[in-house]
Amino acid sequence: MSSDPLPKKELGAVKGTHDILPGEVEIWRKVEAEASGLFERYGYRELRAPIIEHTELFEKGTGETSDIVTKEMYTFVDKGGRSITLRPEYTPSVVRAIVEHRLDLLGTPMRYYYIGPMFRYDKPQKGRYRQFHQIDVEVFAEKDPAIDAEIIEMADTLLRSLGVTETETLINSVGCKACRPEFSKELRTHAEKVREGLCEDCRRKIETNPLRIFDRKVEACRGLAKDFPQITGFLCEECRDHFAKVRSFLDLTGVSYRVEPNLVRGLDYYTKTTFEVINLSGGQQNAVLGGGRYDNMMKDFGGPDICAIGFACGVERLIAMLSLQPDPRKFVYVVHAGDAAKAKAVELARMFRCGGVETLLEFAGRGFKSQFGRANKLGAAWVLIIGEDEVAKGEFLLKDMAAGTQIAGTPESLLASIVEGNKS
Ligand code: AMP
Repeated sequence: MSSDPLPKKELGAVKGTHDILPGEVEIWRKVEAEASGLFERYGYRELRAPIIEHTELFEKGTGETSDIVTKEMYTFVDKGGRSITLRPEYTPSVVRAIVEHRLDLLGTPMRYYYIGPMFRYDKPQKGRYRQFHQIDVEVFAEKDPAIDAEIIEMADTLLRSLGVTETETLINSVGCKACRPEFSKELRTHAEKVREGLCEDCRRKIETNPLRIFDRKVEACRGLAKDFPQITGFLCEECRDHFAKVRSFLDLTGVSYRVEPNLVRGLDYYTKTTFEVINLSGGQQNAVLGGGRYDNMMKDFGGPDICAIGFACGVERLIAMLSLQPDPRKFVYVVHAGDAAKAKAVELARMFRCGGVETLLEFAGRGFKSQFGRANKLGAAWVLIIGEDEVAKGEFLLKDMAAGTQIAGTPESLLASIVEGNKS
């Protein structure tokens, strides 16, 4: 290793990534706890897949014509010559895990969730990062439209339980293998007519996946797409019936939504229902969560023919909408002076920590008064005072910083009074 200092640029976090610092982490944990608690009440279990997968998994799962696969993947060749990708999304990993472990044979509900980092080489901007986090939820083997409504309702409940109100839920059906080709053909005809006005990306999409033109962020392309035919008129009877039932189940739940016929979502695999929740006061990156049904992925992977539906919520975008504050910490600050007191402080800090009490013991060699000042500044709930006299007597003083009162006692009795105080 060179002893030269790192250049300034390399000392910063990699572009599009960020640290989640103490103070923020507590908010993240609250969101994670709320999400996992809620999902478990709906019968979901956590499934943790690796961060790296074979590149082919995403090429096949996410789709070869998707922006993610064509432009955004962090792909590298490992030392064994394999092409490996940092997961850009979670769905293909869950499907792989099910096929690999034959979770479909266990007879347990196939409802899984996960919270973790995803990686996309995208243009970083507010709300768009290269390493970001998703709360991901997937249900398998439920083809009934009632589950589509339930998962949308669960997404809505998650947002409401975190205090989010300024959102709108959009839903659509993108049809299936039976009805979409006809629609794509019609779209191609329309897109060809306005080819000149479309961006280069969309021109390519006329051939590869014309539905995607609806999904473009380029204003001019979106404007032209407004006059394209809508999928609603092309749905086969099964898809039409499914979509009508999703809406009537959603009506039963009381979740408000709007049917948005141009909502196609950025992934190739969706069939039938797609949905998105947008932040009404958000800027450009206003999609908080999105998902849909993907009934063919498992079979396409060579697994059993099992349908699925899921969604992913962007944690950074969600947290940006919240006004959550970290809970204040209640901890003991141990003040000690002298070698004997220091040794005792080490012993008692361990005892308090083992007893379940957050205890801070520092070794900066500050004087008594200065340690009190520090306890105050850090917001300690209690100060445990250990001087030579206390060590000799085996009795110590505990100051309640808010009340300004002080009690004396053995370590056991002081610990008991803190534990008691923490309960109230
Ligand atoms: P997707 O997997 O593209 O369907 O996205 C689902 C959700 O993940 C979006 O609604 C966003 O909230 C979030 N998301 C997707 N890409 C990014 C990104 N590059 N940075 C931050 N959040 C993202």
